[in-house]
Amino acid sequence: MNNGFAFLNSFDINNLLTYVIAFGAAFVAALWIGLTLWVLRDIRSRTRDPFMIILSILFMIVLFIPGVFIYLFVRPRKTFEQKYQDAIEEEALLREIGVSEKCPSCGHSIQSDWILCPYCHTKVKKRCVNCGKAIELPWNLCPYCGEQQQKPFIEEKSS
Ligand SMILES: [Zn+2]
Ligand SMILES: [Zn+2]
Repeated sequence: MNNGFAFLNSFDINNLLTYVIAFGAAFVAALWIGLTLWVLRDIRSRTRDPFMIILSILFMIVLFIPGVFIYLFVRPRKTFEQKYQDAIEEEALLREIGVSEKCPSCGHSIQSDWILCPYCHTKVKKRCVNCGKAIELPWNLCPYCGEQQQKPFIEEKSS
């Protein structure tokens, strides 16, 4: 009876081990595929460089979990979305301090209320004849005070 129990137990344990190993293998395989897909998606949101993408995937496939950790360290820090957000924030900041614009002639940063570029002396804005605010050259109407501008800067082509 003791022997019978021992046989049954060892049989069960063997069976159980087989199941555990099978489940473990399936789990690891699923994790491996899942992580590979995750790395693929993650790297593609960070770079369009095909070399970087292939390298990251190979890294992940060969090294598995350590590869993921290394990938997390070496991947480009920012996703395209974060870069886009940063660009918007930077632009807003620049606008706040008044250097959002660039001279159309020489490309230097100029303040939005300047009417001349101090670098190349190009006329970039005109003053409203009524309120004196800097307005765009082609505008015939001041957006600040509504005053009609007597002399549009742009010479009408005689056609
Ligand atoms: Zn300029
Ligand atoms: Zn005005």
